Amino acid sequence: SLPNIATVIGSGTMGPGIAATLARAGATVRLYDISDEAIARAEAAYGVVTGVLEAVGSPMVPGGSVSFGTDLDEALAGTGLIIEAVPEKLELKQKVFADIEARVGDDVIIATNTSGIPITTMAESMTLPGRLIGMHWSNPPHLIPMIEIIPGKATDLALVDKLAEIVKSFNYVPVIEKEIPGFVENRVLYAILRECMALLEEGIVTPEGLDACVKWGIGYKLSVVGPTRLLDMAGLDIYQAVSGYLNKELDVSTDTPQFIKDKIAAGQLGFKTGGGMYEYGEGDVDAKRKEIITGLIAARKTLSSIP
Ligand code: NAD
Repeated sequence: SLPNIATVIGSGTMGPGIAATLARAGATVRLYDISDEAIARAEAAYGVVTGVLEAVGSPMVPGGSVSFGTDLDEALAGTGLIIEAVPEKLELKQKVFADIEARVGDDVIIATNTSGIPITTMAESMTLPGRLIGMHWSNPPHLIPMIEIIPGKATDLALVDKLAEIVKSFNYVPVIEKEIPGFVENRVLYAILRECMALLEEGIVTPEGLDACVKWGIGYKLSVVGPTRLLDMAGLDIYQAVSGYLNKELDVSTDTPQFIKDKIAAGQLGFKTGGGMYEYGEGDVDAKRKEIITGLIAARKTLSSIP
């Protein structure tokens, strides 16, 4: 079950949503960061996240709370679960684990939200490497109710079940995996993105056409059934017939496509620069962001009502 006290280390993009999700399930959550500026941003982000969770109608277990601070001793006092969400740098994470291990008892779980640094590598510098486990939330963490659980080579296997039970206690779906580069979610996403970018690069379809095709032809269906069930729906014989000629046509490039590199060199990074794959005029990015959150809230409600 969910520990009474949980600590989230790092309150950037991911921290506030993670903290809010645990707090709504009844935990006393301490959200820690290194600077007052980061904490001020986190408090503002937490307000937005709370509004989204209200809109989703996510149930609230009484007693939960989130407090913010820059004192690590206070953040860790009495904690039963630590979720590390600091920037994706090996040395930084290892330093954070050392700081944590110096302050907590041996039975406290240390979970890392890393997107891809091997758990096994990170654990090498730890006093008790068995207590480190991958807990990969999907962004936005307060809306995507699925968490990848990745044990490293040294992870205590009892921890896998324990963390899966914790994840279920706040009504998220735990997905237990073996450690592999990119983990499962990003491998699948990047396989899709590789083919999509190749189709754009070859001028087979417009960006608008591609987005419509993938959203409705793939996303809509897969959001209801998942790829394994989709094969049963389609028939394995059909899959064999199509994959037999199609798999060898699919893109297998190992590098980022040149047209993406060119856009980056021209300062076109997407929302954050006002242009990327699409161009955005004054106010367009904010409007798009709102549209996406509204869509995610509506879709989450609908999908949650389907078994
Ligand atoms: P971020 O850069 O937005 O936030 C990181 C926060 O950590 C910042 O507020 C920073 O001040 C703080 N920080 C830096 N050093 C610290 C320290 N020593 N102790 C405590 N806090 C410290 O990063 P993010 O996007 O929230 O990502 C955090 C982790 O989650 C990364 O490992 C990332 O790969 C992973 N992740 C990110 C996403 C995503 O979509 N952003 C999704 C899944 C996983």
